Amino acid sequence: MNELTHFLNGAMTNGTSGRFSDVFNPATGEVQSKCPMASAAETTAAIEDAAAAQPAWGARNPQRRARVMMAMVGLMNRDMDKLAEALSREHGKTIPDAKGDLQRGLEVIEYCIGAPQMLKGDYTDDAGPGIDMYSMRQPLGVVASIMPFNFPAMMPLWHVGPALACGNAVVLKPSERDPSVPLMLAELFIEAGLPKGVFQVVNGDKEAVDTLLDSEIIQGVSFVGSTPIAQYIYSRATANGKRAQCFGGAKNHMIVMPDADMDQAADALVGAGFGAAGERCMAVSVAVPVGEETADRLIEKLVPRVEKLRVAPYTDGDDVDYGPVVTREAKERILGLIQSGVDQGADLVVDNRNFSLQGYEDGFFVGPHLFDRVTPDMDIYKTEIFGPVLSCVRAGSYEEAIGLAMDHEYGNGTAIYTRDGDTARDFAHRINIGMVGINVPIPVPLAYHTFGGWKKSMFGDLNQHGPDSFKFYTRTKTVTSRWPSGIKEGGEFNFKAMD
Ligand code: NAD
Repeated sequence: MNELTHFLNGAMTNGTSGRFSDVFNPATGEVQSKCPMASAAETTAAIEDAAAAQPAWGARNPQRRARVMMAMVGLMNRDMDKLAEALSREHGKTIPDAKGDLQRGLEVIEYCIGAPQMLKGDYTDDAGPGIDMYSMRQPLGVVASIMPFNFPAMMPLWHVGPALACGNAVVLKPSERDPSVPLMLAELFIEAGLPKGVFQVVNGDKEAVDTLLDSEIIQGVSFVGSTPIAQYIYSRATANGKRAQCFGGAKNHMIVMPDADMDQAADALVGAGFGAAGERCMAVSVAVPVGEETADRLIEKLVPRVEKLRVAPYTDGDDVDYGPVVTREAKERILGLIQSGVDQGADLVVDNRNFSLQGYEDGFFVGPHLFDRVTPDMDIYKTEIFGPVLSCVRAGSYEEAIGLAMDHEYGNGTAIYTRDGDTARDFAHRINIGMVGINVPIPVPLAYHTFGGWKKSMFGDLNQHGPDSFKFYTRTKTVTSRWPSGIKEGGEFNFKAMD
């Protein structure tokens, strides 16, 4: 059995707690490796070593830190195929999807090459007689990143990149479901020139996380995962006086207006609803066609597309649409929610409850499911399913459609499909959701903008990547200085004025 490690002080390091968590091959259902679960003592030692390494790293000038990011970009591109294969093997997503995961993370590392520009301070000359004022951005010290399973490369890179570029040391706690790629990335950072100890990877569960949250050394906590855990982490971290940003779950609605290009809308819904088996926080899980006629046309377009989806292991080639979900528990939970939809009266128009893949009967595959006539009181509407299930809620009017999205407790992403600029503009202005697509189904902002939801999809103030990340990972210090002038008119120096 392959035994995974932590990554501490520049090297893969065996766990000493004696506790392990199973890492599955989701396509076969077999345990493929054991991931060590750090004890509180191991986690504390990792934090202390990070604290010892941070001052020298923080004192390096931003341009020298940025050069490490530049080297990292080259190394990730060099190893892209190897990283993608390792990612798919543990997560189950297709190779093109795994490369997308890596690429969106890489783009944030590229953005971090601009750290010297981002960290420049403000300066006011002559704020008063002989008085100048300037602000500088200084690293927090040691920060923690606690990350989810669904983007094992992108999510850590979105946090580790800016945190390091700002001069912090980072203790990363990846998901215990797919920890290999974060470990490989830590090794690449060393090859890129990062000093040892500045980036520590501690594998673990609640014991490691709680140790990070209670450590007096940790100054900032970034979390990405489900909403209940995001809420927990945010309250515990902030109660301990730490800066925190915690990103949670989602239920993203796509509104389809009667004037939308229905083929385009249906294609977008299938990609955004079923890609990566629906295990994306920006997946569209609710379609809201406006008007009965729009709904009928949309369902007619969706059914054959959903039925045609190819569900298979990533090893079956690049034409696989999506692979297995991450664990057996996830599969059972998704199937349970699908059954609840049927029991509560929704119309299951594409039904794959008996889906099974020959040769992979024990794998965690879930066939694609499409529900019509879902209503807001149903569990499949209220809950984030995080699986290959698309629900159609028919709305009588645009107002009813926008109201549905606005009343939902989550506010990560949303989209509208229409040809009407006025409707699109009204939607973008009024909607209480963080990321909005207009004829774009998954509106993930690029690295130089920021990513974050509203309502129960985000706890904290500053978003992920972009300018917000440089604010989150630094503190502002403002200096007011006064130098009484010793220069007399005519340029002669008056030493007396300096007494
Ligand atoms: P999760 O909440 O189960 O786990 C996230 C992290 O928290 C993991 O590292 C896990 O080990 C840790 N954790 C779990 N339970 C804990 C506990 N009781 N105490 C302390 N730590 C705990 O989430 P997941 O299943 O890995 O990821 C899927 C979720 O992440 C979905 O809800 C998805 O929407 C969300 N997500 C959100 C975003 C975003 O930017 N908003 C991005 C990606 C994923």
